[in-house]
Amino acid sequence: PHIENSGQIKPIDDATVHKICSGQVVLNISIALKELVENSIDADSSIIDIYIKEFGSESIEVIDNGTGIKKYNFQNLTLKHFTSKIQQFNDLEHLCTLGFRGEALSSLCSLCDVEISTRHYSVDTGTRIKYNADGKIISEELVARQPGTSVILKNIFSTLPVRRKQFLKTMRKEFTKLCTLLYAYCLIPSGIRYSCTHTTSNGTKTKVVSTDGNKSLRENIVNVFGIKQLATLIEIKLVRPEEEILNEFCVSLCPGDELPFEIDCLISTAVHGSGRSSSDRQFYYINRRPCEPHKLMKLVNEIYRQFNSKQYPFVYLNITTKSSLVDVNITPDKRQIFLQNEKILLAIVKSSLLEAFKDLPSTYKM
Ligand code: ADP
Ligand code: MG
Repeated sequence: PHIENSGQIKPIDDATVHKICSGQVVLNISIALKELVENSIDADSSIIDIYIKEFGSESIEVIDNGTGIKKYNFQNLTLKHFTSKIQQFNDLEHLCTLGFRGEALSSLCSLCDVEISTRHYSVDTGTRIKYNADGKIISEELVARQPGTSVILKNIFSTLPVRRKQFLKTMRKEFTKLCTLLYAYCLIPSGIRYSCTHTTSNGTKTKVVSTDGNKSLRENIVNVFGIKQLATLIEIKLVRPEEEILNEFCVSLCPGDELPFEIDCLISTAVHGSGRSSSDRQFYYINRRPCEPHKLMKLVNEIYRQFNSKQYPFVYLNITTKSSLVDVNITPDKRQIFLQNEKILLAIVKSSLLEAFKDLPSTYKM
């Protein structure tokens, strides 16, 4: 045996446990940004501004004009499993916030330097707070600011040397993924005005995205991807699946049964595919939560391939269903989702897409 007392089973110390688990919650910079953006959305913000330095390796800052944070929460906010969003398990059934696990900020503290500046709307001054790796307050000072919250992360993954090194090698690619994830939040009609600016270490500034905060999906698509992209899209109307498609997915529906899903979908026409990979410009949501429903994504791409075998489509697909039929608590990043009646959903999406494509000219068809 290489380890002293190797036969004895002993607890890992708390700080080590915390670091090990945090690395699983915040896997990469996209998830770090996603957690901050979701917190700003949950705080009822109407403006969210993001500033990223050197592809995220220097800093990531998210500034919102939401409710702000009350003084008595300054310490609780970064403690593991402390949340203002749920109190007991049953609350998940009618969850209306994106967060609920109370572990993003505590995890971020153990992975990078975290500084929060906030002013609750009920008070006149703001406070800037710095936290240590255990999420404990190191310093607190008064600052002048508008109501709302700014969270700044510096030196991300500095406490996980292997991940930091890997990230520095691949940061341009990671940054592209981060932008795509951010677009998912910008596209969904929410009335929130987003902006994101990237500054490189030599001072070059680029605007990654900016939306008007309009409530329309089409306007958001124009803001994020330009008018040309919008012109290539068609709207998919929900079609009740016929017996044949239901059988294919081994499900049945009685004639009078209400469908358990509604869909809201724009997709490229068959002659207007674009992306070289399916992850390029495809955005899926369940009850407006951006996520990666793998089976649905695979199905959409398979069907599209029947009409255009050379390209991938732009996809915007939001599924609406009762929140009691959705389990988002599968992975810490909540990107995987368990859906009751998933096979019925697949049948609905298949019928709806086939109906929409049937009269359109296809291209590159094999
Ligand atoms: P969760 O979002 O799951 O509750 P987090 O660790 O992301 O857990 O955040 C902890 C708590 O901090 C939240 O429940 C919320 O009360 C508060 N909080 C975090 N970010 C903000 C913000 N931008 N504005 C207001 N409150 C915030
Ligand atoms: Mg959160």
